[in-house]
Amino acid sequence: MNGSEQTVLEKLHKSGITATDIATQFWCEKQMELNYLYKPAPTKAMEKGARMHEAWQAKVYVPLTVETRTYSDVLFKIAYENYTTLQKLKSEKVGRELMIYGSMNGYRFSGKIDELRLKDNKVFIVEDKTVSKFMNSGEPHTRHHIVQIMLYRKMFGDIKDKLYSYENFSKVYKLKGSVLSDEFVKGLRSIGLKDEYLSLESMYKMMFSEMQAIPELSDDLEIRYTDRRNSETVADITVRYDVAAITKDLAYAMQYWRGERDAAPVIESEKWKCKPCKFFGNQCKVWWIGG
Ligand code: SF4
Repeated sequence: MNGSEQTVLEKLHKSGITATDIATQFWCEKQMELNYLYKPAPTKAMEKGARMHEAWQAKVYVPLTVETRTYSDVLFKIAYENYTTLQKLKSEKVGRELMIYGSMNGYRFSGKIDELRLKDNKVFIVEDKTVSKFMNSGEPHTRHHIVQIMLYRKMFGDIKDKLYSYENFSKVYKLKGSVLSDEFVKGLRSIGLKDEYLSLESMYKMMFSEMQAIPELSDDLEIRYTDRRNSETVADITVRYDVAAITKDLAYAMQYWRGERDAAPVIESEKWKCKPCKFFGNQCKVWWIGG
């Protein structure tokens, strides 16, 4: 553990790993780590991207409007909204913003799938990315997005194959015995939820069984690039799910989380990534050649 007793998760003040963390490792692992250590303010481009995601989400997503008071309430809301997203997928053939969970080497994993589409009785995973200009110049520009969508496919596949189930989730998130706040329960009753569903256990059991019951997951994964300035789709790429590739990438990524190696900066041929990086010349001087 690099001579320190602190785990990497502790150092970064995290309890689990997200799919975005893993993806960012394949852009620049050092940048991913520095983001947690220094928490820089979001850039204008990031804020614009977040607003576009919200607008897309608003089209087919029904949020639970009852106010949450406790961590258990928030967990319930996530499961309820996932459940409604899966219902939308069935009724309208599209569902957005599905939280997904899993575990790897004893680490908890989570992520949020942008979109699911139902076509020819298969479920397609879609990942939305906003860009200022689509760089069609090859792997370094899309590699991390491919890792991210393959990871979603793997996590969803694990749930469908019951390799990660309600029982795993319940144990890690300590669902048994958790109670919802009285105000939240009152709010849920007021929107018509029956008493039998008013517990974390029943809601998550229902969510997991819905996730297991969706039609077959497609191995064609779609990444949709949208221009941040005019909201037009500038590229749509389809990648084929590759179990061997994602297994290899995860094995490499986990070396960092297990503390077996330090965060890696970009390689020299990709040092063009450094110029727009907020840490360049500040907290990171790997490719910095002057003041
Ligand atoms: S300056 Fe370059 S190597 Fe350093 S964190 Fe940023 S992108 Fe990575």
